[in-house]
Amino acid sequence: KYTIAIVGRPNVGKSTLFNRIVGVRKAIVDDLSGVTRDRLYEKAEWNGVKFSVIDTGGISSSDDVFVNEIKEQAELAIAEADAIIFVVDGHNGITQDDELVAKVLYQSQHPIYLAVNHLDNIEQHDLIFDFYALGLGDPYPISAVHGIGVGDMLDSIIKDFKENEDTNASDSDDEDQIRIAIIGRPNVGKSSIFNALIKQNRSIISNIEGTTRDAIDAQFVDDQGRVFTITDTAGIRKSGKIIESTEKYSVLRAQMAIESADVILVVIDASTGIQEQDKHIAGLATEEGRAVIIVVNKWDAVEKDNYSMQQFTDNIREEFKFLDYAPIMFVSAKSSQRIDKIPDMVVAVDNNHKMRIQSSILNQTILDAIAVHPTPTRNGKRLRVYYATEVAVAPPTFAIFVNDPKLMHFSYQRYLENQIRENFDFAGTPIRLRIRARK
Ligand code: GDP
Repeated sequence: KYTIAIVGRPNVGKSTLFNRIVGVRKAIVDDLSGVTRDRLYEKAEWNGVKFSVIDTGGISSSDDVFVNEIKEQAELAIAEADAIIFVVDGHNGITQDDELVAKVLYQSQHPIYLAVNHLDNIEQHDLIFDFYALGLGDPYPISAVHGIGVGDMLDSIIKDFKENEDTNASDSDDEDQIRIAIIGRPNVGKSSIFNALIKQNRSIISNIEGTTRDAIDAQFVDDQGRVFTITDTAGIRKSGKIIESTEKYSVLRAQMAIESADVILVVIDASTGIQEQDKHIAGLATEEGRAVIIVVNKWDAVEKDNYSMQQFTDNIREEFKFLDYAPIMFVSAKSSQRIDKIPDMVVAVDNNHKMRIQSSILNQTILDAIAVHPTPTRNGKRLRVYYATEVAVAPPTFAIFVNDPKLMHFSYQRYLENQIRENFDFAGTPIRLRIRARK
């Protein structure tokens, strides 16, 4: 799993290059405000190698001075990425801001690829020579807009990844492990829960050394001998210089953690209640189809007479409608209350996330559901359901073959999904229904 970060001062073409590498950028739709935002983190593939790309340009804290912003983005790239593409504008020569970025990048242990952008034709390629002065090796002439030179640069990056592969082959042995990510807004208690889990269980390798990124992963064994790898998404901020000043940065951290996890703990602070940002962050976990547990932390700090578990649960169900399948746990990292229940719950939802249902039993469930509530009709034509089968796990995905998918009404699909949930224990995992026309 490789990550490439794109850095550079504003307006050199970082975003264009990002889109060029990842293809079409997905947007995050904010259900609450209806606002769409670009994703700053996407998966991509080149020459058969999969990797992720971060657009650091989108991460800026509005009230920070400009210069700090550039530095912060470069620091972020160093902390999070295995390779960095440093973009400069070929027609401007080296600017002071470019020098500033370079100065931060000199501290990187990872390779840096200097992309000299806006070189739309060969005659302009001579312009790269000025940039040798940055001391970052051979510059790559590119045109992000036209896609020129980008492939050559990616060839080099992927080649270097492959050459270094043997030396960091640590990902291979974690087949039976469950990978947990703890996500949530700043100060909800992610690190505290992380530490409490490590303390209560036998930690095999705590704080794996190496890259900065690994420093926030730990492995532990619970009392039943089960192995877990856990990522604390707050760890970087605390160990590094990066200021977690922006929502975008916490969203990015959450996205990265979600990507490599099986089960997500979405942490909410009981003492402050649910906030908008909680919903953004939780929404990312469902989007990626991961198993989710909602962990209400700081339960010790809540005056129980005023606020009961039931009230809090109702509140969560109201605010997090899209997570109606997620179990809710009330814990205190401070007093370790119920922290020991987390591993069991993680194992349970992980099993549900990977559960396979026999087609015969599944089809019986669908038939029973149809018998109770007949399929909808449209313009005198009735939806016919022929059969259903589970086509994927993690999350469980069901193909339902019908006469005409257009006849499947949203509410009827929802009904079928609920019937599946009633008959099988899919607590903690989203399930997906794919309505297909039978050929
Ligand atoms: P993070 O930013 O999400 O990693 O949050 P931290 O783990 O750094 O915790 C933020 C603050 O909340 C710290 O001051 C913690 O001491 C406090 N805190 C964390 N867990 C609890 C808890 O269960 N109860 C109380 N009362 N405070 C907590």
